[in-house]
Amino acid sequence: MLLSLLTVQTFAQSSYRRVKARNGDGVETLLLRNGLNPRQYGASFKQLNRKNLTRRNGLVTGRTYLLPKRAVTRKTPARTTRSTRTARTATAAPQVVGKGPISKSVLFGPRYGAPAARYGTLRGAVYYLSSGHGGPDPGAIGKYGSYKLAEDEYAYDVTVRLARVLLEYGATVYVMVQDPNDGIRDENVLPMDYDEVQYPNLRIPLSQVQRLRQRIAQVNRLHARHKGAYQRLLALHVDSRSEGQNIDVFFYHHANSPTGERLARNIHRVFTSRYKRSQPNRPYSGNVSERSNLYEVRNSHAAAVFMELGNIRNQKDQRRFVVADNRQALANWIAEGIIADYRGKK
Ligand SMILES: [Zn+2]
Repeated sequence: MLLSLLTVQTFAQSSYRRVKARNGDGVETLLLRNGLNPRQYGASFKQLNRKNLTRRNGLVTGRTYLLPKRAVTRKTPARTTRSTRTARTATAAPQVVGKGPISKSVLFGPRYGAPAARYGTLRGAVYYLSSGHGGPDPGAIGKYGSYKLAEDEYAYDVTVRLARVLLEYGATVYVMVQDPNDGIRDENVLPMDYDEVQYPNLRIPLSQVQRLRQRIAQVNRLHARHKGAYQRLLALHVDSRSEGQNIDVFFYHHANSPTGERLARNIHRVFTSRYKRSQPNRPYSGNVSERSNLYEVRNSHAAAVFMELGNIRNQKDQRRFVVADNRQALANWIAEGIIADYRGKK
């Protein structure tokens, strides 16, 4: 009797996963990297590791920390098999956060508000704008002085700015990731939060695979509704691998999508000429290439362009993103390329 009790206790203690804090880690980043939602597990993490935290609840680089155990979540009876049906069943019953889509005035925030369609240039075109990450996943995190810059916040800000421009030109726009209270922000440092939802107000899953499945399932559903229209998906990210000196912006399209490629080239063309004009002494070596294995590019029924606008972890790139005018410029340039593409369509 006593023996079995002991074994249970020993087992319970040793069953916490142990991880080492890396340079720059905070509780949030450490939890996220290990697939745990900070909102859900932050408190138990601090409780579990209180002896190893700094006074301000910081982590010590190189020190080992215990990860809280994942709460057992009750799943709906599994009908899933490892087949193509998985995608559909995984998104069959997404959790609805609020009532219907977020209104445009809320989406663009009090400073900018909902735009009026002032021109008809993009009338008839339908755009799905997918900013990278969001909800429980902030994406890449850069250090900026004592601040942390989260990829999803900056990609989001450029994306809603882009959405607003496209709406002004008369397009139909679906913003696939939406924040219920951020709007367009002009601050340099955009605080990291986790409350983004997926259009039309669905909870964003932590798992990347589930998140993208849910997003693209939604895009494809809408795509069917707009059958016959010119439809494009644009995915915006801020975490390219490039660590070099050059100002690189990468545009990816599917190998079998000439329309995706054409849009990528049209946007790239604008970037090339604008960079030359604004910074003649800085080399710009962005490019357009095929990357058919990206989930969104591969599975979207709308022709897709996946953009990496820079790297939030790169100090030079950070300057491009912390200035609100630069974020607006990026949005404007993308919009310009989009307009050129729509004008040139057959
Ligand atoms: Zn990303």
